Amino acid sequence: MTESNRRILLASRPTGKPTAENFKLVSAPLPAPGEGEVLLRILFLSLDPYMRGRMNPGKSYAKPIEIGDVMEGGTVGRVVRSRHPDFAEGDVVLSHSGWESFAVAEGASLRKLDPSAAPVSTALGVLGMPGFTAYAGLLTIGQPKPGETVVVAAASGAVGSAVGQIAKIKGARAVGIAGGAEKCAFVRDELGFDAVVDHRAADFPAQLKAACPDGIDVYFENVGGPVWDAVFPLLNDFARVPVCGLIAQYNDAAPRPGPDRLPGVMREVLSRSLLIRGFIQREFSDQRPAFAKEVAAWIASGQVRYKEDIVDGLEAAPEAFIGLLDGRNFGKLVVRVAA
Ligand code: NAP
Repeated sequence: MTESNRRILLASRPTGKPTAENFKLVSAPLPAPGEGEVLLRILFLSLDPYMRGRMNPGKSYAKPIEIGDVMEGGTVGRVVRSRHPDFAEGDVVLSHSGWESFAVAEGASLRKLDPSAAPVSTALGVLGMPGFTAYAGLLTIGQPKPGETVVVAAASGAVGSAVGQIAKIKGARAVGIAGGAEKCAFVRDELGFDAVVDHRAADFPAQLKAACPDGIDVYFENVGGPVWDAVFPLLNDFARVPVCGLIAQYNDAAPRPGPDRLPGVMREVLSRSLLIRGFIQREFSDQRPAFAKEVAAWIASGQVRYKEDIVDGLEAAPEAFIGLLDGRNFGKLVVRVAA
């Protein structure tokens, strides 16, 4: 094989919003698989909000990417050379290879995909980590009951779209929050949410209140910031808040100035008996088999729909990722690295 490996490295750490200069595209010789490993041609690369945290120094719930290292990410790849008995040339697998066109992976870390069961890119979205996050976070922490109101932000995205649809399957009323008319129309008309509110509207808090006449029983937190400010007063007694993500603050370089609102928030947590519970999806990994079975069935029955935003070419990844943090993606953001 005469091809070389194209890789996108972390060139520098961003201060605030990432820019193209924080990434570097390089060429490298194709890596060779060792015993028990396979060489993959990457077909799809998942772009996800968590990658912004990995670009910062210092450990959060995972180690940062070092400067000069390849950007990390979930991938779907085709085996082009195998030195593992369970994998043959041509097999399509889920791996965590990163922003590159070829990768060596340990066979033990891979999951074989069945291209006849579902488009393989869905292993990075509705049938993968984001879909699982929605399923486990909503059902384990949110525990929606029939007739309750479930609100989710970033509702047209990979996690939010699944949260609202699963809430409806459980008999709850789903209210989405999304940015702009096109995303709002999709959430209401295509995904079947009961109501949707545009967080960019000047009177967003009033619109949200009108969309939730019985208050909010479950708020699936994906964004934080002004959206959280509008949601918080509407939480009912015994409301549950799975804290999944805070994308509105991922680009903050320093804490925002302002009065200390923590005492007031804690008073309300106490007096309204609120459950506010953060989570990282992997803590629920024992639920993966149930998730895979149930969500595949819901997709087959049309109860869960999904939208992918596919951009072409590895070199498009930095710009697409920068856009994700600004809400420019529309659906699960995936890079098609090879046909
Ligand atoms: P996504 O919804 O496909 O894309 C991100 C969306 O966030 C954007 O399209 C935008 O939608 C919205 N957004 C961006 N900046 C915003 C802002 N300042 N205010 C309000 N909305 C903003 O992404 P995703 O993969 O589904 O992830 C959603 C959230 O889940 C993220 O916070 C992510 O970090 C989190 N997550 C957590 C876990 C976990 O284990 N805890 C796992 C996966 C994902 P609009 O244009 O509609 O505003």
